[in-house]
Amino acid sequence: SSIPKIVILGAGYGGILTAQRLQKELNYNEADVTLVNRHDYHYITTHLHMPAAGTDSIEHARVPISKLIDEFKIDLVKSAVKDIRPHEKKVILEDGTLSYDVLVIGLGGEPETFGIPGMREHALTIRSINSVRLIREHIEYQFACYKNDSKASRMNFVVGGAGFSGVEFVSELADRLPRLCKEFDVDPGVVHLYNVEAAPTALPGFDKELVEYAMKVLKNKGVSLRIGVPIKECLPEGVIIGDGEHIEASTVVWTGGIRGNRLVEQAGFEVTRGRVAVDEYLRAPGFDNIFIIGDSSLIMSAEGRPYPPTAQMAMQQGVNCAKNISLLIRGKSLEKFRFNHKGTVASLGKGEAIAVVNGKKWKGWKAAQLKKAVDIRYLYKIGGIPLVIQKGRFF
Ligand code: FAD
Ligand code: NAD
Repeated sequence: SSIPKIVILGAGYGGILTAQRLQKELNYNEADVTLVNRHDYHYITTHLHMPAAGTDSIEHARVPISKLIDEFKIDLVKSAVKDIRPHEKKVILEDGTLSYDVLVIGLGGEPETFGIPGMREHALTIRSINSVRLIREHIEYQFACYKNDSKASRMNFVVGGAGFSGVEFVSELADRLPRLCKEFDVDPGVVHLYNVEAAPTALPGFDKELVEYAMKVLKNKGVSLRIGVPIKECLPEGVIIGDGEHIEASTVVWTGGIRGNRLVEQAGFEVTRGRVAVDEYLRAPGFDNIFIIGDSSLIMSAEGRPYPPTAQMAMQQGVNCAKNISLLIRGKSLEKFRFNHKGTVASLGKGEAIAVVNGKKWKGWKAAQLKKAVDIRYLYKIGGIPLVIQKGRFF
């Protein structure tokens, strides 16, 4: 009989971990493994707020996939997935078709706009190398334009949503703006940076004391926090918030949440906000040959609440998924997935962060060192010492 064909869609946190573990686990010629990704690089999503604000280079946030996998063992296909057909066991790419016996969907999520008028059309989002390059250049361009037309709205910047992505990005941008002012000879007094959050608090659900600390850090950096005020509409020049107040701004970055990849819903799986409630082995309901991991999957905690989609979750799922695929093709019974929440570490710009690790709270400089350690650990995990040296940020 022919050897089983395994196709992995997406080389993000989940997909890379699955591919790397499979190449370790499988014996020679035990299966055919293909990894499909839109770009020939993996991006380190958890770093994207830095190149977006311009406080770090884009090259620090991406790695050629060929450096992460063994191309003798895994076929890398650089292409965009257009359609997943679970009943035909086929995936349609922009430039071809793949058939599979076992499929892993790790295509990540996409921005959730909740149908807010104008958001999709006018706001920028932090999702990929290309989207953050656009943010960075857009911001620099506003400074260049301002020196020519003095339009006040060019110096107003709105970040919509104060979840972890919003807070991490707004902190970086607050660090960058004074430097841009110097570079472009702009009076810092004309620059305004807003972070607008609908919930009664920033970082809803996170430790109160640490949220307060984070708010203090942001205020000291000059961020205008608008908490408990929803964005109602996004315009070409700004946002309408709360009871109709218009913040005029040429830059709106939306960090109001994410949902599953639209391809997953398009494939006919039952979804909640684009995410599939997978079974205890990470499989799509009704399909014992399709695994869904990362931001397009939905996992419930023991308390019956959905876990937030994180890199930590996607990586652990990738490890379990690879294990289960090898068990599946060997005809053995699968291992249940259990999420092990190690903690949360969020940066607040240079030298500042907040963290809860193993129930212990950290803030300030120590937490910032912890953040660096977490980032370096990831580089080490996927690429060993060489990757740590190439992409690590030690200072
Ligand atoms: P991703 O890592 O998003 O990867 C998806 C891959 O699929 C990408 O390579 C993409 O190019 C590819 N792809 C997408 N569509 C297609 C297509 N149609 N065809 C082909 N390829 C496609 N989580 C944490 O745990 N800790 C953090 O500190 C943290 N920081 C974050 C900071 C920021 C600024 C952001 C935005 C997120 C952060 N997260 C963090 C969340 C974390 O990044 C995500 O949960 C994680 O990336 C999800 O992994 P994934 O494998 O599902 O998808
Ligand atoms: P999120 O859903 O966690 O936060 C979005 C925020 O936007 C929420 O606070 C929400 O109340 C707010 N919001 C929604 N609609 C709004 C509106 N109309 N007006 C104003 N505010 C509005 O999304 P995220 O921050 O992008 O994070 C996505 C996932 O990635 C989460 O699971 C998060 O934990 C994870 N993440 C983790 C880290 C970290 O651990 N350091 C960093 C970034 C992201």
